[in-house]
Amino acid sequence: MQLIPIPAFSDNYIWALHDGQRALVVDPGESEGVARWLEQRGLRLDTILITHHHADHTGGVAQLREATGARVIGPAYEPMPEPLQRVGADESVEALGLRFEVMEVPGHTAGHIAYYTPAMDGAPLLFCGDTLFSGGCGRLFEGTPAQMLDSLTRLAALPADTRVCCTHEYTLSNLKFALAVEPGNTELAAYNARCEAQRAQNFPTLPSSIGLEKQINPFLRTGEAAVVRSAQAHAPGTPFDAVSVFATLREWKNVFR
Ligand SMILES: [Zn+2]
Ligand SMILES: [Zn+2]
Repeated sequence: MQLIPIPAFSDNYIWALHDGQRALVVDPGESEGVARWLEQRGLRLDTILITHHHADHTGGVAQLREATGARVIGPAYEPMPEPLQRVGADESVEALGLRFEVMEVPGHTAGHIAYYTPAMDGAPLLFCGDTLFSGGCGRLFEGTPAQMLDSLTRLAALPADTRVCCTHEYTLSNLKFALAVEPGNTELAAYNARCEAQRAQNFPTLPSSIGLEKQINPFLRTGEAAVVRSAQAHAPGTPFDAVSVFATLREWKNVFR
């Protein structure tokens, strides 16, 4: 099985899996790049997985469905172009011989879901849309800090070697913020240097891993003393609890340059 990020727009990746014959894509915001990729490799599109309703994740779905007959699977509680098979918590999806568990991860949008498979060529794989990014997390458009923190906490509980396939190449700007929060985090500084080298050659920084994110992503580290201190220095009076620290970090990141 091959895992490939197909670039789209300025900083999206349409994650694709194929077994040499059949393919699966996640969040095709546009159809052209996917159609070209299928054509070049002689692949048949079997399944489209969608994490949430934003146009940069769904814009290519109708055209791809019409052109290929692929089935479309998406979140139970999001406004979506029909027809699609809607899935929610504790359900699973079988595709390309893999079984994906559906996780409800509200926060970025109200009905955002993620797809997790425990073993794809020996390691787990997570498609998490705009919930968890490398070094950051999605903006809270429809959810509360408590919801998003709960979603991220459940993702962080997945095995350390889980490959994290998020939709956007936001890593360097996220790490700039992460370094402002935790200037003394040596793992973070080393990861930032590796990502700068990757981007200088136009290579993706993704997939990341859950184990790495727990070491470098401030939004998964709201219990770390250094992170709490930075949040309180930025917004004096921020209480010590994880939800308050998370809320301060998220608001700080929204205005961080
Ligand atoms: Zn989004
Ligand atoms: Zn997006």
